[in-house]
Amino acid sequence: MAKKPKSSAEKSRPDGVRVTAAKCVRCKQPVVPRFRPFCSQRCSDLDLAGWLTSKYRIPTDDTPDGSEIELPTDDD
Ligand SMILES: [Zn+2]
Repeated sequence: MAKKPKSSAEKSRPDGVRVTAAKCVRCKQPVVPRFRPFCSQRCSDLDLAGWLTSKYRIPTDDTPDGSEIELPTDDD
């Protein structure tokens, strides 16, 4: 009888009062709201750089232009 449903426990918790357990996505240090979701400007920059690098990666001979996209032909 001492069993408490999980949903009930969460329901009694106000939405605004959330335990800040957020950690930097790069170095796992406590997140600073200003740099969320990072702990510092440095981590933010590093992550952004990583995104940009992969975003601007130009496909070379790995992806032949045009030949990759093959439209289904109704060739009976
Ligand atoms: Zn960090």
